[in-house]
Amino acid sequence: MVYKWLESIHSKLLPTTCRLCCAPGLPDMELCRHCRADLPWLTHTCPRCAVPMPAATGATICPKCQNRSTHPTLDSCRALFEYRNPVDDWILAMKFHQDLAVARLFGALLLETFPADPDGAIVIPVPLHRKRLAERGYNQALEIARPLRKRGFPLDLNCCYRRRYTIAQSALPATSRGANLRGAFSTNGLLDGRRFILIDDVFTTGATLNELARTLKRSGAERVEAWVVARTVYRDRKTD
Ligand SMILES: [Zn+2]
Ligand SMILES: [Zn+2]
Repeated sequence: MVYKWLESIHSKLLPTTCRLCCAPGLPDMELCRHCRADLPWLTHTCPRCAVPMPAATGATICPKCQNRSTHPTLDSCRALFEYRNPVDDWILAMKFHQDLAVARLFGALLLETFPADPDGAIVIPVPLHRKRLAERGYNQALEIARPLRKRGFPLDLNCCYRRRYTIAQSALPATSRGANLRGAFSTNGLLDGRRFILIDDVFTTGATLNELARTLKRSGAERVEAWVVARTVYRDRKTD
């Protein structure tokens, strides 16, 4: 109650402006109602890999996940947006131009869209290697997760880490991404029966998130899901 009251005072004192059209923004959000609605939201997606699913088929998982010979290590994956304009530009600004306001916006949108209660799960922003952290100065996944911590989601920044410095996944073809990540993460001790929500910016092949999920499960984690800001979608040009 008091928290809500303080929040409403805060939003009145610090009005926001839409980062797309400069109209007055929604409370605590650099977006107006219209621009928010126009974002490339993903609504009906495969629960395992977050790829868009045609609503008409009635299938529960996408054909790729159905045909996969091995079950992905990640138990489920949710994505807010398709990775395209303006979300792709915002992600690049966040990663390479210190636009941390956009990370806060993404965190607020995750909170609004996905379950408001962690239900016992612990949030892990996908860790960066210490060398990349030193280069960038911040971990964008942690910046996205900060608004979740403010709302009471427990964050754990110590139970796992990136032990191997790897080439940026974006510089590699999809077929090499799994091998590039193998053995990249490690855990600090046992995680028996714990459940986790991984936070990351982009899901392309899922190699990073699946490798981290594999590492956590090897240490005893019971369930690992992922919440990501954007999902890369490869569309068939003939049907586009
Ligand atoms: Zn706007
Ligand atoms: Zn799928």
